[in-house]
Amino acid sequence: MSKYHDKRELAPRDIVTRAIYNEMQNKHSSNMFLNASIIDKQKLLMRFPTISEHCLKSGIDITSSPIPIAPAAHYFMGGIKAEVNGKTSIKNLYAIGETASTGLHGANRLASNSLLECVACAYELADYLSFANLETPNIIDDRIMNTINLYSNPISDCDYDIKTLKDNLKSLMWDSAGIIRCEDKLLKALDKLNIMNRDFRRERKCRNTDEYEYRNMLTIAQLIVTAALERKESRGAHSRSDYTNISEIATHSTSSIKNAKEFSYA
Ligand SMILES: Cc1cc2nc3c(=O)[nH]c(=O)nc-3n(C[C@H](O)[C@H](O)[C@H](O)COP(=O)(O)OP(=O)(O)OC[C@H]3O[C@@H](n4cnc5c(N)ncnc54)[C@H](O)[C@@H]3O)c2cc1C
Repeated sequence: MSKYHDKRELAPRDIVTRAIYNEMQNKHSSNMFLNASIIDKQKLLMRFPTISEHCLKSGIDITSSPIPIAPAAHYFMGGIKAEVNGKTSIKNLYAIGETASTGLHGANRLASNSLLECVACAYELADYLSFANLETPNIIDDRIMNTINLYSNPISDCDYDIKTLKDNLKSLMWDSAGIIRCEDKLLKALDKLNIMNRDFRRERKCRNTDEYEYRNMLTIAQLIVTAALERKESRGAHSRSDYTNISEIATHSTSSIKNAKEFSYA
């Protein structure tokens, strides 16, 4: 890491991620190594019991051998816009944790901030709900009934190999919207996503949880790619090879929300 940052392994997360990724590309390797053996053995085992046990099962003693590592992509720092107590713009819909966009994160999600967010926001929401009036009207209006009927319509008998579809989607996102992004690849990904969406004929009702999950994954993937295309700058985990600097004028994108509506299945 000394090639990349004077703080070496303690550099910001996106910098370490890109450094690992870059070295893997240059060396045509599927992983790099993390050497933790300089840390006191007892301390290492006490602080990382799950990782050390997991590695040992694969024959790696992390107290004496380097650990094979590879980066994971943080595809976006966002989610449902929510207040710190989980309130959203929809009455009685609350969002906390990974699903929420509370403004607590910057361009990186820093180690342990996310878990702290889950605990702090859950506490705030529980506190809020304990004093809130949770009564809901007992009437189901026509609009809700129409939606229920629409989504209960019979569906075609077509069977899908959801595992393969999900794997293809994951590969597409990793290759096109992963650690390093550029317009060309993002545009191609958007085209492919539109085709994948068109081919998956579940506009209304799905047949099982896997199908609903895949449909949701397609929606999220399209939102991520659209937002990544619009953010013409590099900032934290969002790294564009065609726009390498931080832009002074870049702000939160709203058109991805507009596109979400265009992409909706209703
Ligand atoms: C590779 C990686 C590394 C990370 N490193 C760190 C770190 O170092 N420090 C840190 O603080 N955070 C880290 N995070 C982030 C942290 O793990 C998450 O922010 C946190 O786990 C989110 O918790 P959550 O309960 O909000 O969501 P999740 O843990 O995603 O839980 C959501 C649950 O809901 C379930 N679910 C989904 N859909 C449905 C449905 N329709 N019906 C019922 N259940 C459903 C899911 O199966 C899941 O169990 C990391 C994340 C990743 C992916």
